[in-house]
Amino acid sequence: MAVMRGGTRVGRSFRPDFLLVRQNLRDAGEDYKKLLLALKFGGVPSINNLNAVYNFQDKPWVFGHLVQLQRRLGKENFPLIDQTFYPDHREMIMATKFPVVIKIGHAHSGLGKVKVDNINDFQDMASVVAVSDTYCTVEPYIDSKYDIHVQKIGVNYKAFMRKSISGSWKTNIGSAMLEQITMPDRYKMWIDEVSDLFGGLDICALEVVVGKDGREFIIEVNDSALTLLGDSQEEDRRHIADLVTSRMQAICRPRTPPGNMEEPVPPPVGPRGILGSLSSLTHSETPPPAPDQVSLSSIGRRESQTSQSSTVSSGRLPDPPPRPFQRQGSQQSNPPPEDTEDTMKNLRKTFAGIFGDM
Ligand code: ATP
Repeated sequence: MAVMRGGTRVGRSFRPDFLLVRQNLRDAGEDYKKLLLALKFGGVPSINNLNAVYNFQDKPWVFGHLVQLQRRLGKENFPLIDQTFYPDHREMIMATKFPVVIKIGHAHSGLGKVKVDNINDFQDMASVVAVSDTYCTVEPYIDSKYDIHVQKIGVNYKAFMRKSISGSWKTNIGSAMLEQITMPDRYKMWIDEVSDLFGGLDICALEVVVGKDGREFIIEVNDSALTLLGDSQEEDRRHIADLVTSRMQAICRPRTPPGNMEEPVPPPVGPRGILGSLSSLTHSETPPPAPDQVSLSSIGRRESQTSQSSTVSSGRLPDPPPRPFQRQGSQQSNPPPEDTEDTMKNLRKTFAGIFGDM
């Protein structure tokens, strides 16, 4: 990261121990893919795992995986809504049955979603897709009683019913009534299946639209950037924090001195979540690079913008990371060798640069 010191722009580097991703990688007009690539380059372990986050860049990509799930489980066991994918406007000649919902490109919070009642409006929308330079999907509009949100945070499950009271067909816009409901076995099965996608989703949510006739349609899955709902948000945040700390305890341990102790074995962190962390285990095996060896300038900038709302840090960044010193093991009572002192000086300088003089 580039920092200003005495009016001069200097390069500093740091190695995040762990990352919690609580914002969408992409949204309308936003794309943080470059930061994700940098984090992957740095081998930073995270929740959800970085491969999973990468896979959530395009909703039709995720939906394609849900279609595979439905093929395996059967339509009655996984009631996914029928969706048609249009790579661009040229294919949008007609839709079979109206009303439909057109979902343009990759965006959240209801953006880019339009209810279309007839072929004329459909063609108008095709012309909008033409200038938006992206794909779109079309699905039947469900005249709904309410939406259901099924969320999984580690081993904690919750289901909510959300009903619009402002009259919008999108229950995530305007005011809505929210009620936590008991979790039927089928919801648990759906979210468990979904949480196995992409190497394991530690945190995920399913969105289900329930028609006036009571039929349920799974419309999408959200990742660790999911919106927390209702009065129990604080509890959910605690669950997320617990998940992060338990994962950090499992994979962010200092290296043990050679021949001294057994390698720590990460404890299991949940029946399905451990897969996601396996790729990250190598993190603790790799010694941190010297401060001048890594240049993750864009990560640094983003970190400073989002650290409060989007990430949970280990809370000990101002301290020099312990790994270089732990490696000395049995020599701890002796004066540290010169290169260790150099490393320590470098680290002090680095952290002084980031957080002010120490
Ligand atoms: P979020 O970021 O909150 O997940 P989003 O931008 O991904 O929102 P959707 O979840 O697909 O958008 O749709 C927003 C809302 O519109 C849903 O919560 C639901 O109430 C309504 N909705 C979406 N698709 C349909 C549909 N096919 N039929 C009826 N209502 C729908």
